[in-house]
Amino acid sequence: MPHVLISGGSRGIGRAATNLFAENGWSVTCLYHTNDPEFHDDIFSIKCDVSNPVQVRSAVLRSEAHFGPIDCLISNAGISVKGLAQDFGENDYRLVMDTNFGGLFNLANALMPGMISRKSGVIIAVSSMWGQTGASCEALYSASKGAVDAYVKSLAKELGPSGIRVNAVSPGVINTDMMKDYSDEDRKDLACETPLGRLGTPEDVAKAMFFLASDSASFITGQIVGVNGGFLI
Ligand code: NDP
Repeated sequence: MPHVLISGGSRGIGRAATNLFAENGWSVTCLYHTNDPEFHDDIFSIKCDVSNPVQVRSAVLRSEAHFGPIDCLISNAGISVKGLAQDFGENDYRLVMDTNFGGLFNLANALMPGMISRKSGVIIAVSSMWGQTGASCEALYSASKGAVDAYVKSLAKELGPSGIRVNAVSPGVINTDMMKDYSDEDRKDLACETPLGRLGTPEDVAKAMFFLASDSASFITGQIVGVNGGFLI
């Protein structure tokens, strides 16, 4: 049974991915930060702050002791801080970069040696369309996702010869807790701006992750795959 480790599996997109992979027979380790997701027993949940490399290494060891080597990493945990760029300080910078980019860096670092020695593995990062275009009032978030995109492309080049594929999914506007500050009117406006006429669901993104993890994507690496209903074309 293949084994996937999903960070930020307690809510939103990560939770939908956890359920989809489990339903399709994968062994799933779910990392959460503050909200214990209390899945059924088949899913192994570990409390782990992805910005902390010591906690990440320990979580990876526990996960591999439980289910065996990790075949696929989904680095999904992320946070958004909104505000004027001029008002962001050192704490905002550390929090956003250490979680959104640092989480990927720490998880990939912990998993790469094993994947390289096995000459197989899949890494999927969760980016954002704002990493490609930049978002007003989300400058730090956008920068952190731009870093994710560049890292994914670099890893794909470096790890391809070792049989490891590295891609990102780049969601558009997805209806999760991350959207909780948006009014109903904002949501309607965003749906209108989306060619497919609706906001995305966590399941829309999970299905793209599942495809990228599967053998159907065996010749796809280094790609930033938009899941945005056409919002960014
Ligand atoms: P949610 O806010 O619904 O969930 C965020 C998840 O990340 C939670 O499971 C949370 O864990 C976890 N998390 C946050 N910080 C940490 C940390 N330090 N260590 C471990 N886990 C952490 O967000 P979404 O599901 O919407 O977002 C998932 C990913 O998708 C993020 O990377 C986000 O940037 C990206 N994305 C989302 C979009 C959207 O419109 N929703 C658009 C583009 C990208 P806990 O519950 O325990 O706190």
